[in-house]
Amino acid sequence: MQNQYINEWFNIPELHVNQILFSDGDELHLEAVPVAQRQCCPVCQSMQHVIRKGNNGRRIVRHLSVFEKKTFLNVPALRLQCSACEVGFGWMYEFVGPKQRYSKLFRTQTVEQVLGSTAAHSARMQQTPASTVLRFHHEAIPELSDQIQKQAWAAAKITNELIFGVDDFAIKGAHLQHGHP
Ligand SMILES: [Zn+2]
Repeated sequence: MQNQYINEWFNIPELHVNQILFSDGDELHLEAVPVAQRQCCPVCQSMQHVIRKGNNGRRIVRHLSVFEKKTFLNVPALRLQCSACEVGFGWMYEFVGPKQRYSKLFRTQTVEQVLGSTAAHSARMQQTPASTVLRFHHEAIPELSDQIQKQAWAAAKITNELIFGVDDFAIKGAHLQHGHP
């Protein structure tokens, strides 16, 4: 497959997918590199004195499945240095949080699946341990509560009927009850 199509398909502007490393059984591994050459120094916020200083190997990040295969992006853990501030720092990827092994989109998709079903179902769908799915869910609760509250207030403004509160928000599944001790 042409790399151009792979890149359009993944649509992660900060990355350039170089090649498929391997695809076997139910896994697909792709190699990708940052499009940019450098990033700003976290201290002086300037790129002027930043240079690349090799890398600390590769990060393997689980991303959205492709054709139901578990898909992993292999990206370099680049090291950078600002010669003005004399600090070293690691490359920050937008699509995945620091030190995380699952991309932000994968986490969002997994949490959305849990909301429509159970953690066990989502774990099967995502081919991910249920404990990981639960962790994503718990980490997403503060943000979700906020969103639901805003939606409830917005709905309250256009209807006279009673509106559910955040405490009524429950996730199906024995280990996922929230607000019903
Ligand atoms: Zn600096």
